[in-house]
Amino acid sequence: MLLVVAGPSGVGKGTLIAGLRERHPGIEWSVSCTTRDPRPGEADGEQYHFVTRDEFLRMAREGGLLEWAVVHGSDLYGTPRAPVEEALAAGRDMVIEIDYQGARSMRQALPEAVLVFVAPPNAQALRDRLTGRNTESEEALARRLRSAQTEFSHMGIFEYLLVNDDLEAAIGGLEAIYLAERQRLSRAHWRRLQGELVEDLEG
Ligand code: ADP
Ligand code: 5GP
Repeated sequence: MLLVVAGPSGVGKGTLIAGLRERHPGIEWSVSCTTRDPRPGEADGEQYHFVTRDEFLRMAREGGLLEWAVVHGSDLYGTPRAPVEEALAAGRDMVIEIDYQGARSMRQALPEAVLVFVAPPNAQALRDRLTGRNTESEEALARRLRSAQTEFSHMGIFEYLLVNDDLEAAIGGLEAIYLAERQRLSRAHWRRLQGELVEDLEG
């Protein structure tokens, strides 16, 4: 199962995903590629693969990205194709964090992906979290707040809306989506089990 988590920068996507993965360590994390500079404390290959614009565009040209988009007006962000396809083919679960454009592309590329939009309880909470995280320059902060408006105008393309107010409650909400969707996706397995059960009883 591919769980796609979107929402404006600073709303808490990373925090929620970390909370979900703490409860379900089997869920893999898709490391995106980006052309933006690493923040202090970010390591290449952990939060992101930090690449040059040329490297990014070459990967996109060669089909190495499942989706990619220009985010915050200038930087390129994309999902490497191979890890997602390998995880899904092997029946493992994966979570990815992308913007609304990426989510829209992902729905086309992988229609079975589950799309979740994370919203703040109000605009001030979003401003407070973005500034409180203390990772952005004034200019980067302003760009992220502008992108947030665009993100909100595309909330309608998502299947689930998760309001991140109380953190523990929101992690519980994300976990509930994950658990319910996992049961739904296992319908094919139910059919097989059903067939086996009926056959066994006949025998
Ligand atoms: P994103 O991944 O969406 O950019 P982060 O996960 O980095 O956002 O969260 C942004 C900031 O908001 C972090 O400092 C985080 O600790 C804080 N935060 C996340 N969720 C909540 C919440 N429910 N209440 C208060 N602060 C939160
Ligand atoms: P930042 O980490 O620079 O604050 O913000 C990243 C923004 O880009 C977030 O909105 C995040 O969802 C989005 N993003 C991160 N990785 C990807 C990706 O692989 N593809 C797309 N389309 N967006 C991404």
